[in-house]
Amino acid sequence: MEVFLADGHLSTQAIEALANGQDAFTELERLEAAEHLAFCNSCLQRYTGLLESAPLLVPERSCQKSIWTRIGMKTFQTLTSRYTAAAAAVALALTILWGGEGAAFARPALPEDHPSVSQKLSGMTEDLGDSLRHAVAGWSDFFDGFRPSQFKE
Ligand SMILES: [Zn+2]
Repeated sequence: MEVFLADGHLSTQAIEALANGQDAFTELERLEAAEHLAFCNSCLQRYTGLLESAPLLVPERSCQKSIWTRIGMKTFQTLTSRYTAAAAAVALALTILWGGEGAAFARPALPEDHPSVSQKLSGMTEDLGDSLRHAVAGWSDFFDGFRPSQFKE
């Protein structure tokens, strides 16, 4: 069988043999024909034209049902994951609105809520000052109880 014509293109017999899957070529002829089909658009167009008329393979099992099942499951998962978060947010908001009327929310402790060290020290000195004043007053009351006349003699 003649694979190439005189003008360098594949012969019609070779293209038909390739399209029908006939094993009429040597290894070198098959490589040359494949190489020619890789760069020659007219031969590739003739080859694909012959392939169009060939019957298409039908799969043994149709995957249409399993694909539609997967699409349905994926849609269900997407919708549930999307609306579950929204439903949880609505439920939380309604719980807070209706059930949390008596609840008091504690705000986080701010720095000004805690007395500073200087405020603590001033409070301690005031306490200490009160104690000292009290002690001094007690001492003065104690010494006021003595009369100078008591020390004479
Ligand atoms: Zn060609």
